Amino acid sequence: MTPGTLDGVSFRSGEEPLRAAVLSVGSELLLGDLTDSNATWLSLRLREFGVEVLHHLAVRDDLDEFVDSLRWLTERVELVIVGGGLGPTADDLTREAIALAAGVDNEHHDDLEEAVAAKFAALGRTMAPQNLKQARIPAGATPYPPVGTAPGFGITLLDPAPTRVIALPGVPWEMQELFARHVNDEVRQLAGARATVTRVVHVVGRGESDVAEVIEPLLDAHDNVTLSFLAKKSEIQVRLTVSADDPDGARVASQPVVDEVVAALGTAVVGVDDDALEQVVLRLLTAAGQTLATAESATAGDIAARLGRIPGASAAFTGGVVVYAAGAKQDLLDVPAGLLEEHGSVSAEVTEALAQAVQSRAGSDWALAVTGVAGPDPVGDLPVGSCFWALAHPDGHVEVHGRRVPGDRVQVIARLGSIALDLVRRRLLDVASEG
Ligand code: ATP
Ligand code: MG
Repeated sequence: MTPGTLDGVSFRSGEEPLRAAVLSVGSELLLGDLTDSNATWLSLRLREFGVEVLHHLAVRDDLDEFVDSLRWLTERVELVIVGGGLGPTADDLTREAIALAAGVDNEHHDDLEEAVAAKFAALGRTMAPQNLKQARIPAGATPYPPVGTAPGFGITLLDPAPTRVIALPGVPWEMQELFARHVNDEVRQLAGARATVTRVVHVVGRGESDVAEVIEPLLDAHDNVTLSFLAKKSEIQVRLTVSADDPDGARVASQPVVDEVVAALGTAVVGVDDDALEQVVLRLLTAAGQTLATAESATAGDIAARLGRIPGASAAFTGGVVVYAAGAKQDLLDVPAGLLEEHGSVSAEVTEALAQAVQSRAGSDWALAVTGVAGPDPVGDLPVGSCFWALAHPDGHVEVHGRRVPGDRVQVIARLGSIALDLVRRRLLDVASEG
């Protein structure tokens, strides 16, 4: 089959990338009750095929507004993915809106009715009469049998220029599964087999502009690479997108660039692709046969939760204590009242005492403690973002650090956790390179 064509219809000319849009349907999206995570997910997937996503649009459950939006998009792109509105109720308008935009009627499909009925039977339920509506799709559309209870479909609109309109259910896992089963191949065909991969280099402890200054000059020599920076709450992501004829080719082409970036940023790089900071810390600990415990004040257990989300964490993470109030530091970890009075809860001295105490209580090799002022209000003389972190080493000595961590409450909590975990990572690397 010729790239850029589907069922004999040609969708794009020359070397231009296929242009796409996501149209999300549902009043909840416009009321602010629901975040459009489907659009984000679809953009990421489409980008892997070298498709350019030009628009994300959300519409309410209103037929006229829906048809208007569809027309607006079909005039501008060759692929529109519609998410949601495929349920059986009166406010599920996707079949109707797309049929109107295509100028066709909806048709009943016996096999879709059987498939929907079978899904209900498998759930031990009888299909309500209104679910028959879900067996109807616009005339000429390709049916995508349901994985939940909502079938999807794809249809080509020819006016004013060919546009493939693909309707998928709103429920994220159903949408993703139907995408994998039916849409992947259509998009590959339409996009003409161009593929891209995005490699992610995770950086902690350096600012975005600082990282940009190091990376940008490197990329002059690689004109097949697109660079972007994503400042997350707890890290900076350097994202390198590389195009090639197929995903494997793109991955191979990306490796030298990733290697150069990692070399240039040195120890500020905590990992590549799926390697998040907590994952790396746990891997290094496990490799060394060592354990870590935590005592958290400002982060209130966030560090422990980050570690606990990684499969296999129990091999290296002993446990953690949330010692939020001053009284808890005294009661749970025996920090002397005098120390708290003299230096305050947020201080190098108290943080050091917490690390030492949790190390001996947990019997762990390493112990991490954090205190800080997360905000929004300062505490006494300490401005928002004043933070301390302490690491008790296996030989019993404790190193303590402190500085002002920028950001609002959520950011301070995330960044303090990353800074502290990063200290563990660096010390484990030191040990590994000595040993
Ligand atoms: P169903 O037949 O399962 O009801 P549907 O196609 O009618 O499918 P919707 O009713 O629009 O889907 O959405 C069902 C649920 O899926 C929503 O309540 C919401 O939780 C989730 N959802 C819908 N659209 C989105 C979206 N754009 N991003 C994230 N979640 C979504
Ligand atoms: Mg619905």
